[in-house]
Amino acid sequence: MTVRIAVVEDILSANDQLAAVNRARLGAAGVLGINLMASPGAGKTSLITRTVIALRDEYRIGAVDGDIATTLDADRIAALGVPAVQINTGGNCHLDAVMLQSALPRLPLDDMDLLIVENVGNLVCPASFDLGTHRNVLIASVPEGDDKPYKYPVMYRGVDALVLNKMDVISAFDFDVEYFRRGVEVLNPGLSFFPLSCKTGEGLTAWLDWLRKEIRDYVSGNPR
Ligand code: MG
Ligand code: ZN
Repeated sequence: MTVRIAVVEDILSANDQLAAVNRARLGAAGVLGINLMASPGAGKTSLITRTVIALRDEYRIGAVDGDIATTLDADRIAALGVPAVQINTGGNCHLDAVMLQSALPRLPLDDMDLLIVENVGNLVCPASFDLGTHRNVLIASVPEGDDKPYKYPVMYRGVDALVLNKMDVISAFDFDVEYFRRGVEVLNPGLSFFPLSCKTGEGLTAWLDWLRKEIRDYVSGNPR
């Protein structure tokens, strides 16, 4: 048992060292990196699509898409006219810093302001693997239920912003937003929270304004 734990700790510490290298690489290029995490089907690609369409005239955006088997998501994003790199994880259920490191040379970092990383759909292990991005964002969605902060506390504890997607269907579900938020507040007090619908566009403005502010703060704290 002790041996197994030591091995896990070694893997995580090697990952953290590589994550620091990735973060320095992004910093040298003046790129803010965002790690988007969620369960499968919560709307990661939809939020990226909405975000790219809204901000592509303001910022130079690139994307990295982690996917177990397909290039479907990267294709959707590349169709918007921004560089998008697919990381095929070969069945692995999360991205790690090595995978992101392999993707970075395939992006025009020096001509980018924002990198959006779509992690593999999973509410467990992505929380344990720092990629070297600067902000972690979790997307929850109404159909998943309002108990997820209680069931996946590690994921909710480690993020800088929380999106609640699919608000357009909330009347069809027993989703108690106050119960959900109470669970979040215990784990991550004051967490920025954006209920929205990628389908209708409702609530997107607040999310986009948060992202603009994060880019501004990052650039001013990281003069080139
Ligand atoms: Mg996706
Ligand atoms: Zn995993």
